[in-house]
Amino acid sequence: MAEETLFSKIVRREIPADIVYQDHLVTAFRDIAPKAPVHLLIVPNHVIPTINDVKASDEQALGRMFTVAAKLAEEAGIAEDGYRLIVNCNEYGGQEVFHVHMHLLGGEPLGPMLS
Ligand code: 5GP
Repeated sequence: MAEETLFSKIVRREIPADIVYQDHLVTAFRDIAPKAPVHLLIVPNHVIPTINDVKASDEQALGRMFTVAAKLAEEAGIAEDGYRLIVNCNEYGGQEVFHVHMHLLGGEPLGPMLS
C-alpha cells in the first residue's frame, strides 16, 4: 500500500482544493500556483508515486486521466487552440509531489517545450 500523499488528501477532500472533476478513478483540481491561465492537475484517486511505479492494474485510471483532460480542455474553451499535458518523473523530471499527476496547461501560447 503506497503512502498517503498531499493529493490523496485532496482526493478525499480532507484538505481544500478547487476540484473541477471527480469520479471513482480520477480527480482533477486547479493547481495552487498556476503557470498558465488554465492549469489543472489530474490525478489517479489511488497513490502511484511515480510513472516508474505504474502497473497494468493502473491502466484504467491512467487512461481516464486522458479522457478527463480532453473533456476539461473542451469545457475550459482551450481545446481548439491547444494545450499541453505534462507528467513529471523524479528529480530530473522536476517532480515535487510523489503521486502521479498530469498537468493540463493552456489558455495562452505556451511556446516550444524544448528550445
Ligand atoms: P510536480 O512538480 O510534482 O509535477 O507538480 C506539483 C504541482 O502541485 C505544482 O504545480 C504545485 O503548484 C502543485 N501543488 C503543490 N501543492 C499543492 C496544493 O496543496 N494544492 C494544489 N491545488 N496544488 C498544489
